[in-house]
Amino acid sequence: MTVAPSTVTIDQLTDWLRRFQGLVAEHQTELTELDSVIGDADHGANMARGMTAVAAKLDAAEGDGDGPASVADLFKAVGMTLVTSVGGASGPLYGTFFLRFGMSAGAVTTLDAAGLGAALRAGLDGIVARGKAELGDKTMFDAMSPAVDAWDVSVAAGGSPADASAAALAAAEVGRDATVPLVARKGRASYLGERSAGHLDPGAASTTLLFRALADALGG
Ligand code: ADP
Ligand code: MG
Repeated sequence: MTVAPSTVTIDQLTDWLRRFQGLVAEHQTELTELDSVIGDADHGANMARGMTAVAAKLDAAEGDGDGPASVADLFKAVGMTLVTSVGGASGPLYGTFFLRFGMSAGAVTTLDAAGLGAALRAGLDGIVARGKAELGDKTMFDAMSPAVDAWDVSVAAGGSPADASAAALAAAEVGRDATVPLVARKGRASYLGERSAGHLDPGAASTTLLFRALADALGG
């Protein structure tokens, strides 16, 4: 019997980011199509530009021979890269998520399931501090908030990081799909009013990719 590892390494967190970049590239057209219906058709391009810049940063750091000294350093670089390379609302929002994630994790090289959960929660709180979204506003928050809650529930029940990541992904998918009937109350989609109902929120779709990448990186 194999016991699932109880700690997450900085290499696994780097793998998370690389997998997110890969999934964003793979789904770029789809994300842009979603945004073309209730926004301005740039969410795929915004996320692809941002995560390509992040991947280039990771490549450069690896080329230097030594990776990031700590989880805080890694995610500070990621967050700053997204804030500065993405023009749309999603750049500052995801950028803040990663900056707060790193600040919560601190100068460590591994995280346990509870520590990773606390970092995800700090990232989520950063998105709220920045964008003021509430549940049901039809934003990325509607996928991320249930995902972070599910992470905590899994860990409280003794779940490993892999278990928690699988639970978080499942909750993100449900939250994403639940954005379809909602009327947008934040971001560009809110300009459409009632006409935003009946369509999936692009940011909830990209956030679900973030949690899929995490589950893939952690074996969940
Ligand atoms: P823009 O709206 O500037 O074109 P994007 O298209 O890249 O930026 O991102 C749009 C997504 O950002 C939306 O689908 C939504 O999920 C998310 N979003 C917009 N405003 C907010 C907000 N205030 N809080 C949380 N998420 C938001
Ligand atoms: Mg847009």
